[in-house]
Amino acid sequence: MPQRENEVESMSSATADPRPRAVVSGGAVTVAGWRCRDCAHPMTHEVLRCPVCRGGTGAAAFSPQGEVFASTCLRIRVPGHEPPFAMAYLLLDDGPRVLVHTEGEQPLRVGSRAVITSITADGDLVAAGCEQEES
Ligand SMILES: [Zn+2]
Repeated sequence: MPQRENEVESMSSATADPRPRAVVSGGAVTVAGWRCRDCAHPMTHEVLRCPVCRGGTGAAAFSPQGEVFASTCLRIRVPGHEPPFAMAYLLLDDGPRVLVHTEGEQPLRVGSRAVITSITADGDLVAAGCEQEES
C-alpha cells in the first residue's frame, strides 16, 4: 500500500527536533524560542496558543544564563555520548527551562548558576557552572 507508506513518511518528517534551538553570534549564545504576547509565558517550541492563557505567541530570544533546576550523571549509553556524562535542567533567567549537557561527569549543584557556552555539532546545548571550586 504505497499511500500508507507516504503517510508514515510525512508523519516522521513532521516530527520536530525536541531540543531547544540556540544561536551563537559573536561568541555569545542566545536561546531561541517563543513567548506569549499576553502573559509572557516563555516556551522553547512554537505553539499557536499559549498553554497557560491561550493567548497568541511570538518569536523571542532568551538569556543563556540561569539557575540549575536539576542535574544528574548519566551512566547509560546514548548515541553520540560516552558515559558517564552529566546533564542539567537550566531555568533560564527570563526564559523557559532547557536541558543542557555539562562538562565532565559531576552534576551541578541545584540552585547554582550556570551559563550556556556552546552548541555541539549535533545540536546539543552545553553549559558550564558559574560556581567557584571549593578548595
Ligand atoms: Zn499566556
